[in-house]
Amino acid sequence: MPELPEVEVTRRRLERELVGSRFKEVVLRVKKLRLPLPTDLAQVLPGLKILSIDRRGKYLLFDCEVGWLLVHLGMTGFLRLLRGTPPPGKHDHIDFIFDDGHLLRFHDPRKFGTIAWIYGDPQLHPLLKGIGPEPLNDTFDGSYLFGVSRNRKVSIKQLIMNSSVVAGVGNIYANEALFRARIRPDRAAGTLTLLESTELAAAIREVLEVSIGEGDTFRVAEDTVAYYPQALKVYGRGRKRCPSCAEPLEETRLGGRSTVFCRSCQK
Ligand SMILES: [Zn+2]
Repeated sequence: MPELPEVEVTRRRLERELVGSRFKEVVLRVKKLRLPLPTDLAQVLPGLKILSIDRRGKYLLFDCEVGWLLVHLGMTGFLRLLRGTPPPGKHDHIDFIFDDGHLLRFHDPRKFGTIAWIYGDPQLHPLLKGIGPEPLNDTFDGSYLFGVSRNRKVSIKQLIMNSSVVAGVGNIYANEALFRARIRPDRAAGTLTLLESTELAAAIREVLEVSIGEGDTFRVAEDTVAYYPQALKVYGRGRKRCPSCAEPLEETRLGGRSTVFCRSCQK
């Protein structure tokens, strides 16, 4: 599943390539992904220009002059940026064709992605309205995290993975941030001190920024946007040695999700 860093790397690449491009044609080969596709998309977009590309959590938001095109990659979706109109392959569900020769192709084997068209303020759209602060913005810090976790019995890992608390922190980066902050994932959120909350907020920002940096410098296959190998310290390394103390990492499940931590480094 693409996590926030991959979506941000995708956003930056598309911003470099597509801002100023004008939609010429939209080809829809399916009627629905996770939600039904807007039926009038092929009539709405042609002629409109992309003014900017924003991100909210794991949603991409294309500012198209009179409205916003919202794209979520779901579990298995990715975008390919091509030129001309090469024949579509299996699972190539949508083509956005631009008048400068660019083709943006949405590929999604499991069809859990989302495409929506929004008039007005996209932040008020039902899909975006309840999303918490962006982890890379200044509004997300230790005192915020400390405030929202008071009296909460839920584990700190599940709390930071709740998108109404903070946007877009998925399972991989929740594991990595808690390791960096030396906090056990199964601690009740309400037991964190202000100092621990501050360290965790900083760790979340750091693991995301490091990963975005890796994605920015990774030379992706010419046409594929999203997905790149990532240097992870604990996620996917259960029973391997802790990179700090060399004790075996513990793997368990928390809220149904794979959770890896070091019993001696994380308290
Ligand atoms: Zn350790």
